Amino acid sequence: MRLFGRQSFRSKLVLQAMLAATVALVLALVALASYDLLRDRQRVAEGLRYYAEQMAPTVEAAIAFDDAATAQQSLALLANDPQVLVATIHAADGTVFARFQRGGTDAEPIAPGAAGLRFLEDRVELVRPLALDGERLGVIYLRRGLDDIEAALQQRYLIGFGVFIAALIVALVTASWLGRQLSRPVHELVEVSRAFRDGDYAARADKLSEDELGTLTDAFNEMLAEIQTREIALDKAREELEDRVEARTRDLALSQAELESAKEAAERANKAKSEFLANMSHEIRTPMNGIIGMAELLSATDLDDEQREELDMIQQSAKALLHLLNDILDFSKIEASRLELEAIDFTMSECVGSAAKLLAVRAAEKGLELACRVAPEVPDRLVGDPARLRQVLVNLAGNAIKFTSVGEVVIEVTLAEEQPPDLVAVRFAVRDTGIGISAEAQKGIFDAFSQADASVTRRYGGTGLGLAISAQLVGMMGGEISVSSREGEGSTFEFTARLPRSDHPQPMPAALEELHGLPVLVVDDNATNRFILEETLRAWHLEPVVADSAEAALVALRAAAATDRPVRLAIVDVMMPVVDGLQLIERLRAEPSLPMPHVIVASSGVAPDERRRAAALGVARFLVKPLIQSELLDTILEVLGKAESEQAETAAREPAAGGGLKILLAEDSVINQRVAVGLLSRWGHSVDVAADGREAVSALAADSYDLVLMDVHMPNMDGLQATAAVRAAERESGGHTPIIAMTASAMKGDRERFLAAGMDDYVSKPFEVEVLRELVEGYAMTGAADSDGQVALTAQEANDER
Ligand code: ADP
Repeated sequence: MRLFGRQSFRSKLVLQAMLAATVALVLALVALASYDLLRDRQRVAEGLRYYAEQMAPTVEAAIAFDDAATAQQSLALLANDPQVLVATIHAADGTVFARFQRGGTDAEPIAPGAAGLRFLEDRVELVRPLALDGERLGVIYLRRGLDDIEAALQQRYLIGFGVFIAALIVALVTASWLGRQLSRPVHELVEVSRAFRDGDYAARADKLSEDELGTLTDAFNEMLAEIQTREIALDKAREELEDRVEARTRDLALSQAELESAKEAAERANKAKSEFLANMSHEIRTPMNGIIGMAELLSATDLDDEQREELDMIQQSAKALLHLLNDILDFSKIEASRLELEAIDFTMSECVGSAAKLLAVRAAEKGLELACRVAPEVPDRLVGDPARLRQVLVNLAGNAIKFTSVGEVVIEVTLAEEQPPDLVAVRFAVRDTGIGISAEAQKGIFDAFSQADASVTRRYGGTGLGLAISAQLVGMMGGEISVSSREGEGSTFEFTARLPRSDHPQPMPAALEELHGLPVLVVDDNATNRFILEETLRAWHLEPVVADSAEAALVALRAAAATDRPVRLAIVDVMMPVVDGLQLIERLRAEPSLPMPHVIVASSGVAPDERRRAAALGVARFLVKPLIQSELLDTILEVLGKAESEQAETAAREPAAGGGLKILLAEDSVINQRVAVGLLSRWGHSVDVAADGREAVSALAADSYDLVLMDVHMPNMDGLQATAAVRAAERESGGHTPIIAMTASAMKGDRERFLAAGMDDYVSKPFEVEVLRELVEGYAMTGAADSDGQVALTAQEANDER
């Protein structure tokens, strides 16, 4: 089948017809030939029998009369038939009575055999018995050749073959014609389907007959018509679609261009906004520095009560204004994506502790307990932006203090439940017992400029930016912020930060190991404080003995004294109801039977004579609450005589011998000159003033100074250029004069720019008086303040404390 699979339909038809014709012809020819052969044989047999019958009476008589000559004559008649080869007459005893043999044939002895006719390969033999009156006389034997039949047969074969060939030719011609006729409609269908496929949708097949192929052609044409209709519809749809796509593309290109130009315009506007912001910030900060500084100078002069009160108000207002300015600046920086977080190693407990310390006075003034807990499992050394983290904490805890009048504010740091693979997820919670926030107000509380209740805000003040900034900063730290609160019961603000672990963990001081198992008495009426202290002491492997009142403390001390492990250290809260911490110590002293432990007192530090009373009672250390871990640990080690470098540390804190520094102040604003000179001289330093960078460079070339305070924006030569010139000169001459930048600009990259220019530190204007003092004194003590920018950063934070 496969052999014919590739043949055309027409060849297949022809082949089939030829095959049928051949088979029919062969069959007919074979039948004819066989029939002829049979008839020939029959004729031959009849001939022989005829001869025998004709001869028989004569020959029988001849034998009967023993007349051989007559018999021979009878046989001689057979010579007329050229096909008769041998004819013999045998007597009854088998002897040859008469014989005819055609010349050329051998006179071989003949044994006639049984009566009857026999066809052999090349001859036919007939044996005819002879009898007379029932007496057997002998037989006639006739032999005939078959040459004539064979010749006739061959002739017929030849004719038959001729007929066969002729018939085949006729069949081929006929089949071809028929094939052509039959295959034409099929060809037509094939051609039309090809044309249709190539896009000639009008092509239709001609109907060539009325038979089944005709019907097929009709059906095929109908199908084509149907396809054509659909194709036309499809083409139309496609064209429409193309048109639509083209239109869309055009629209898109148009809106892309519009977008592009809108984006450019937005970027330009954004840039302009940022520049405006930087300028405004600078312009506002400069006079603010004048106001705050002048007010500070004024406060050191003689003033009557009314004047002092008014000056206080000026200072408060200036601080509030500065806080507002900082908030707006931060917010704009975040909005303009110009705020970047640092990634530096920091100590979590110190960061949280310093945030709490900033707010301690405010909490104490309101009589609130401010506690901070860093759970022991939180890794202490992490990588992040401690200043921004502190800013968020100060914001939240500042709000908590602002909106709480009774109770406590707790900052809590724990590990988040779900920990990412390579980072530490830290959870911060700031909890208060304040006025709370209604469910309605909680909704948009992290949006900018939103305040829970305008009337509340009027009472408490604020911009509504703090939480928005905090939420953004927390987002930048990879965390999220949330609030849960009930009106009248207090609020808890929570946020997470995902921070990498530091490669430089800080080991615990070795001396702590010697104190393992040491009983330490903790006396505090506040349960949160007790819990935090107990947890912290346990983490250091000390053994806290906890008492919630002076009474309980005395009981515990007495009990411990009766054992062989008396309490050697007590951490005592001063502010307690009924009997306060200092009274407890008095009572202890009054009970000589009790061994006196070393006492560390913790106080909010606002009551004026607490320190004096404590010193009089021989208290070892006076700590200002909230207690922070590193400070407490150092104090415990110091008090128990385990401090490693106590001496060295105290020495470092002493001012340099001789006190005052020789300071060069480079500042173009006359007001700011007066502020700085006023403050610095009040602290015992001598100050020379240069009005711009160029004057500063010449002053430094002419004289040597301990410290330079350098404004950045100055006419003629700015602070950065001046610093570069000074550093270049120093490379020739040797030496290094510390230069502190003073700038009212507070934009991203400032610090890097200043340090890269060769400055040692920077303080942003308006500076917090204490910050400047600390910074300058840092140089006075050691000759070089720590240069990791920590001091400069606190300037920003100090502003947060309203
Ligand atoms: P503001 O500078 O006005 O305090 P924030 O964004 O820090 O701005 O706070 C927005 C508002 O959220 C506050 O005005 C106050 O209504 C509410 N709020 C924030 N923290 C607390 C809190 N701890 N208790 C009650 N209300 C709070």
